[in-house]
Amino acid sequence: MWSVIGHIKAVNLLRQSIERGNFSHAYLFVGPPHVGKMTLAKNMAQALNCLTIDPPCGICAPCLRISEGKHSDIQVTELEQGGETEASKTRISVEQVDQILHSVNLPPFEGRYKVFIIDGVEHMSLQAANRMLKTLEEPVSKVVFILLSANEAMVPATVISRCQRIELFPLPLTEVETALITRWGVAPEKAKLLARLSGGRLGWAVTLAQDESWLQQRNEWLDDWLEVLEADMDARFTYVAKMAERFSQNRETVRQKLLLLVDWWRDMLLVKTGSGDMIANIDRTVTVQEMASLFSLTQTRQFIGNVETAMRQLRQNVNPQLVLEVLMLNVPERGKVKRVVT
Ligand SMILES: [Zn+2]
Repeated sequence: MWSVIGHIKAVNLLRQSIERGNFSHAYLFVGPPHVGKMTLAKNMAQALNCLTIDPPCGICAPCLRISEGKHSDIQVTELEQGGETEASKTRISVEQVDQILHSVNLPPFEGRYKVFIIDGVEHMSLQAANRMLKTLEEPVSKVVFILLSANEAMVPATVISRCQRIELFPLPLTEVETALITRWGVAPEKAKLLARLSGGRLGWAVTLAQDESWLQQRNEWLDDWLEVLEADMDARFTYVAKMAERFSQNRETVRQKLLLLVDWWRDMLLVKTGSGDMIANIDRTVTVQEMASLFSLTQTRQFIGNVETAMRQLRQNVNPQLVLEVLMLNVPERGKVKRVVT
């Protein structure tokens, strides 16, 4: 059986296409990070190589070898970390694509189909993408490509048009919560919180569940933000100057901190618009409610926009200290934030 949780529509489509023997030679799975694209891609690779009449069984030799990452016909390509220039820090290189194209022309070694899974295809250089076009256009016997992208807008149209596109959406939060409890043995209260914080991206929720330090880190960062939002401008600038320090090494940390901030303000917006039961930070409901009462709807919306702008500018390599200082200048005026011990 397909082990991916949820995504029923996508699973049905893939299952039927395998049953009918009319599956595509190239797929593009799109959806937010950690939503289940890689799990589904590996499931598809299993289904194509499974030895049983109800593929993927998950327990035959090929299925097991694929789930263990040992099957020689399943090749997973991911981002090459650490390029020399800023632009090449995270990319799929021409060399990686050349290696795939070389392998495409060799027959399957142990299975029925060779499956090439390329994660983060939006990070493929244009030159690398161009090299792939011909292969994507002209199916090679016994070869299936599965490209994965969390940012479809950045994938060249020439690549998209040569693939069958399948979109994966975040799962209902209750489904994530139940899966965390039943499959991963997470305590119910923690499962509820992680399901909310993951926004329905099961892979992310599982990562958080398995990393004990993450919740602690999140609590520290949230406390820092709440303090900074209350503080005077000098203190705010000192805080963001530290964030901006050695930004290129701390890029992901800064992104995570800003995500926490924007999610927090989105929760405030939910409270203000009467949907307080939908908030992500359910372990801090009282504080969210109190802060929501201190800002107007317009202020809240504007500040969410400001954080999103800052995140976009950082991706575009605008000077980080400048971006973060402007963000601090844009924290809306309000009464004193009342801190509550929860
Ligand atoms: Zn099997």
